[in-house]
Amino acid sequence: MAGFGIRLLGALVVSAVLLSGRTFAVSIEEEKELGREFALEAGAALPLLRDPDIVAYVASTGHRIVGALGPSPFEYQFAVLKAPQINAFAVPGGYVYVHSGLLTRVANDEELAGVLGHEIAHVHAHHLARQREATQLMNYATLLGIFASIANPALGAAALGASAAVQLKYSREFEQEADYLGARYMRDAGFDPRGMLDFFQKLWEEQRTTPTFLPPYLLSHPLTDERLTRLEAVLRTAQWERVSRPPASLSLHRAQLVTRARTQPPNEVVASYRRLLAEHPEDPQAHYLLGFALLETGSYEQARLELEQARQQGWMEGERELGRALLRLRRPQEARAALARAAEQNPADALAQAELGKALELLGETDAALQAYRRAVQEAPDFDEAHYQLGMLAGRTGQEGIGIYHLAVAYQLRGDYPQAVRQYEKALPLLPSGPERERAQENLERLEKCLQRKRLHRR
Ligand code: ZN
Repeated sequence: MAGFGIRLLGALVVSAVLLSGRTFAVSIEEEKELGREFALEAGAALPLLRDPDIVAYVASTGHRIVGALGPSPFEYQFAVLKAPQINAFAVPGGYVYVHSGLLTRVANDEELAGVLGHEIAHVHAHHLARQREATQLMNYATLLGIFASIANPALGAAALGASAAVQLKYSREFEQEADYLGARYMRDAGFDPRGMLDFFQKLWEEQRTTPTFLPPYLLSHPLTDERLTRLEAVLRTAQWERVSRPPASLSLHRAQLVTRARTQPPNEVVASYRRLLAEHPEDPQAHYLLGFALLETGSYEQARLELEQARQQGWMEGERELGRALLRLRRPQEARAALARAAEQNPADALAQAELGKALELLGETDAALQAYRRAVQEAPDFDEAHYQLGMLAGRTGQEGIGIYHLAVAYQLRGDYPQAVRQYEKALPLLPSGPERERAQENLERLEKCLQRKRLHRR
């Protein structure tokens, strides 16, 4: 453990004194276990967005940065919380959470990479475990209380058994270290580290112009003029400056659109994409995004018209949304054709696969539908709806054990642990030996432990 810390320190220029005289209060195994327990508790207590466009975008950005870390003891996982604030946090063991409010506010991939790079650096450098109050913070109930009260003040820290007096706040040294390391990982992953500074400057402006409203992110990651100046200096010395800011990528547009459709009033979401189209009437992407927004907010016929307009203007990346609109308009033949094209263009697109499965199911092509659903859960293991569809169809076609197993996974992903436990118990005796049975056994044990802990808390 110490060796790891020292190796890491060798790479640092900003914090040569950090480790001296401070011992790690917790082991790597304890960090991993804390992260796992936290993720399990959070899955039931915090509202998570499971849409593959959102999850895949954040996770692929995060994993690109993780790839630049070199050897790491942790398996990183990324999740998006349905919460309007600008916030992000990382739990020891590699569990990184981004609030939907932050995701809708980043201007490009680099800004999100900046936030993730900073959080990953906190995890990689074991900052929480090295905090002075580590023993108090390194307790999943306390952490859950802190983060739950940020995500949803109604849940309240007290309700989750945490002391409200404990507030996670990284030290100034750890903040600077996370800035520096995060920027380096970003650069090594091929992102422009300037995105980190851009986003922090945005927060800084917000803090100065509306001092009564402090983004929660700044409570745990205190931002000072000095910190910004230092980060700017680091970027300049390393010649990590850039001249122009990249525009938002299509993946970011999609992730932001779905996030907004899940968290904001539908008419406002559609209106904003109408404005975008009015500003760029010749841009097929603007037609596509408006069509996508109409689809996500339930106006299927209007969505179809906009998506076909985009296609007529040469936009080839809207087949999936067109197919989804056609499916909801009860035109399964055409829907299957469009969705098959989308799945062929991008076989790893879990949403395209799951929607193709639905079209095939409607057309009575059961085997092909099962195959599409299986592909969807393989590409996006956290996609609850695909597990649910697969479970229902497998059950109807005589694979009872597998069917119930996938229903159990869907309930677990939706945070309904008591129902998930009941389904796993039902599935186990019916499952042939294989990976599903092993996973069912493992999940059942973890969920039962989690539920038991909750019962104890309540007493
Ligand atoms: Zn920080």
